[in-house]
Amino acid sequence: MELHALTAHELLGLIQEKKIAPKEILDAVRERIQTIDKDVKAYIRLNESRPDPGPCPIPIGIKDNMCMVDQETTCGSHILEGFKAPYDATVIDKLKRSGAMLIGNTNMDEFAMGSSTENSFFGATRNPWGLDRVPGGSSGGSAAAVAADEAIWAIGSDTGGSIRQPASFCGVVGLKPTYGRVSRYGLIAFASSLDQIGPIAKDVTDCALLLNIIAGYDNLDSTSVDLPVPDYTKALKKDVKGLKIGIPKEYFVEGLDPQVKDAVRAAVKVLEDKGARFEDVSLPHTEYGIATYYIIATSEASSNLARYDGVQYGIRELAQKVRKSPLLDMYDETRDIGFGPEVKRRIMLGTYSLSSGYYDAYYLKGLKVRTLIKNDFDKLFKDFDALIGPTSPTTAFKIGDRVNDPLSMYLSDIYTVSANLSGIPALSVPCGFSKEKLPIGLQIMAKPFDEEMLFRIAYAYEQSAQWHKQKPKL
Ligand code: GLN
Repeated sequence: MELHALTAHELLGLIQEKKIAPKEILDAVRERIQTIDKDVKAYIRLNESRPDPGPCPIPIGIKDNMCMVDQETTCGSHILEGFKAPYDATVIDKLKRSGAMLIGNTNMDEFAMGSSTENSFFGATRNPWGLDRVPGGSSGGSAAAVAADEAIWAIGSDTGGSIRQPASFCGVVGLKPTYGRVSRYGLIAFASSLDQIGPIAKDVTDCALLLNIIAGYDNLDSTSVDLPVPDYTKALKKDVKGLKIGIPKEYFVEGLDPQVKDAVRAAVKVLEDKGARFEDVSLPHTEYGIATYYIIATSEASSNLARYDGVQYGIRELAQKVRKSPLLDMYDETRDIGFGPEVKRRIMLGTYSLSSGYYDAYYLKGLKVRTLIKNDFDKLFKDFDALIGPTSPTTAFKIGDRVNDPLSMYLSDIYTVSANLSGIPALSVPCGFSKEKLPIGLQIMAKPFDEEMLFRIAYAYEQSAQWHKQKPKL
């Protein structure tokens, strides 16, 4: 039996029946990494220690932007090389307590800025379904690791789609929880009002199990919300009969790959046959999503990233010749060498939007449009249990295809940014393959704190469709 190929719930079952020991799972996953990570490059670094297995001894990959005590965390950036956090992120703490085995830091776009993992200082990750393709981003390493059986579970973060889009490109399940559902304490900030940590898993059941571990109020994160955490696996058993699901017409427009459209339509049919009722609806402000997101996210990033100046974290670079002053030159030099081109672009865009004279026209306007986008959702969720559509307009593109065209890269986030702007939970579940055998993702969105609805619909669909049983040939 290839243990690395099993799901967490299957492995936990085998442990309970005393058929396998936690050490065997860890060995199987580590061996898998040894064999194929030279091709996939899902990990930046591995944790060689032998973690104490607890009640839930599942090997898990952690995106390289969560603080882990005494272990390097670099956010895919040169500027943070050598940085070791003095504390564990709350999510890491919860995972350690559960007994999960943290096996390494997965690759990501630098500071989570990107949709392909090509912006990593450590080089691109490859898509297990086609090694010449991107795995999506920014949590591309996490999604690729799970798809390639190099991890049973993984943790990602999602600011504008960074869990869902790579999950869709790699044929796995990814959830961006409601803003406030999972503590952000110890997550290295990109855009604090949008960032949310979430699970990436091989199937819907595993995704629910992982959310059970990481969700919940945390007094170290003032934006986390004090609401009880249900047992999300209970939601899996409910059927979808009578649920009212909206199909936003703005998610089926020009730019949508016909193969993606057909797969999503076919998924709707499956759910319809199971008794869900569908209706066409409108989210009229969708077209402003990308502009709004890229103004708000870059503004927050320019402020969050001001702390990397060579003083407290990571690398320090001194200037060869004094130009302004040794201190100011050190800031300049460190940031110049430490940040990659995309991060610099975002810092400049954000600084511009926030600068006096432009603030009202860009940042403030962006906040107002954000409210309009959120109102669209609030209105629909009065009548509908969920909304459904594609996760991404295309399947995984070729490595190198979009790196020199930031606008086309930004536009590919069209279906995912709205959930972050409005704070709602959204999940991507595999819904088929293109003729090139690349995975397609179905996105389901629900009202705030109704992750159970997402699991319920996704599970009903998954059990009929069975796409999760397919594996890439590596
Ligand atoms: N692709 C989006 C961006 O580049 C989203 C990134 C994310 O969710 N971290 O900003």
